[in-house]
Amino acid sequence: MNRRPFDPRLLHRVPAARRDLMLLAFLGVLAAGLVVVQATALAALLATAFTGRLDRVALAGFVAAVAARSVLVWAQGAVSARLAATVKAALRADLLGAVARHGPGWVAGQRAGQLATLAGRGLDALDAYFTGYLPQLALSITVPVAVLTRVFVADWSSAVIIALTLPLIPIFGALLGWQAQAATERQWRRLSLLGGHFLDMVAGLPTLRAFGRARSQTEAVRRMADGHRVATMKTLRIAFLSALVLELVATLSVALVAVPVGVRLLGGGLALQTALLVLLLTPEAYLPLRAAGSRFHASMEGLTALDEALTLSGSAPAPAGRAGTLPDGRGEIRFESVTVAYERTTALRDVTLTIRPGERIAVIGPSGAGKTTLLNLLLGFVAPTAGRVTVGGVDLADADLDGWRRQVAWVPQRAHLFATTLADNIRLGTPDAEPARVAAAVRDASLDDVVAALPDGLDTTLGERGHGLSSGQRQRVALARAFLRDAPVVLLDEPTARLDAAAEAAVLSATHRLITGRTALLVAHRPALLRGVDRVLRVADGRVTELTPAPAGEVR
Ligand code: ADP
Ligand code: MG
Repeated sequence: MNRRPFDPRLLHRVPAARRDLMLLAFLGVLAAGLVVVQATALAALLATAFTGRLDRVALAGFVAAVAARSVLVWAQGAVSARLAATVKAALRADLLGAVARHGPGWVAGQRAGQLATLAGRGLDALDAYFTGYLPQLALSITVPVAVLTRVFVADWSSAVIIALTLPLIPIFGALLGWQAQAATERQWRRLSLLGGHFLDMVAGLPTLRAFGRARSQTEAVRRMADGHRVATMKTLRIAFLSALVLELVATLSVALVAVPVGVRLLGGGLALQTALLVLLLTPEAYLPLRAAGSRFHASMEGLTALDEALTLSGSAPAPAGRAGTLPDGRGEIRFESVTVAYERTTALRDVTLTIRPGERIAVIGPSGAGKTTLLNLLLGFVAPTAGRVTVGGVDLADADLDGWRRQVAWVPQRAHLFATTLADNIRLGTPDAEPARVAAAVRDASLDDVVAALPDGLDTTLGERGHGLSSGQRQRVALARAFLRDAPVVLLDEPTARLDAAAEAAVLSATHRLITGRTALLVAHRPALLRGVDRVLRVADGRVTELTPAPAGEVR
């Protein structure tokens, strides 16, 4: 894939960037005009200086042009920095939006670490592109055009030489750029692998420690970092080489113009002022192209990240909740011949199921049977490969998923707590709940003792992923979230998994309180959870069978 200097997708994705881009182009035109004014004034000044007079108009013009150019440089810096900030913020938001729309399975598939590297360091590398390369790109078009026009008016034969040699710079630049691009992509791939691996390793550090693998993993990270270093050096070598080649081409081209001008000047065929003007202007024509070439290398990493960000966020399904119909959570939930096939496994096969409003249903079955997939279908995290899921007659495929999810409370197998206060964790789905309602949810979830034991009660800030709370306590925080949500539909996925008997008792009573009076789908792996449910379904091998009445015995 060829990396173009400008990706037009950017204009569609970040419309706010248009104005700043136009402004940069305009500043480029102004700068080109000033280059010509400055050289013309300087040539006049120098030519008259030989005759012993001082051309005051030329002097004033020269000083004004120099001052205006420095103001322009500042303006370009300010506009391009603002442009970079706008684009980065928009792309980060897009990327997060894509993550939200794709759902959790996609993130796991993309590798969270790669996404994190892209959204952080990857997009920051765009600074070099927007503040360095793009303004230079504008100049590399406007300045040569202005210079060529001015030189043509003064001395057309020099203009012809410039016009013939100028294209050599982009041609050589492109040839070397292809090399650099492959190297940069390799470098970037290694970096994101490194990011993903590092995240994985940090998360699994206790496991690695326990099995005595921490040291060898550190070795692996070192090896990957080394690979990244080698790739970086290679990119730098190519960049250095290409700067040298372009420098050489430009110098030779200037000489090609300068020699005939000098000869004609000596022979009296050219006025001094004209010769000076041509000699002053000629290098200016090559300069921006060369600068753009070297800046292009510096912004390769950013461009690679830009391409990845635009592709990833563009691959997301259309934002949910725009045209969708709002299903009524108090309606009937139906699975109609639903099949869910993942890449390697078929999790559910031709499942047909009706859940009446207010029904409390337990789902049992061995691990890997497809129980969680059943809940993920209802949450809209996975879509049926065949068949459909309807709520109150609305197909979830055409539904306003955000609106539907507002009517669902979900207690996952392993609740994710965030590194914020306990109160904010409980208010996750109901951010503006009054303190009294939070307190009631705490009571309903049997969380009072936990709150009382924490140093700042509900205002205690939790560690990352709820560090500082036991699994049983974390599970009860998730139940408190569900109580506060007060949704007509509740989905619980093995809420007491990995809990000891004492912790289980507290979660169990809270669970039964939660499902009473609501439509509930409760994935149960312990017989104790089956108390108080209306029906029991068994999932095995992706098929769902009804076990009614609820078995009092063992659950596998
Ligand atoms: P359960 O919750 O009953 O243990 P799951 O519904 O989680 O079972 O999984 C059912 C099957 O689908 C398993 O074989 C599992 O490996 C597979 N599976 C679940 N989620 C995914 C996924 N996101 N990508 C690929 N395979 C998956
Ligand atoms: Mg499961």
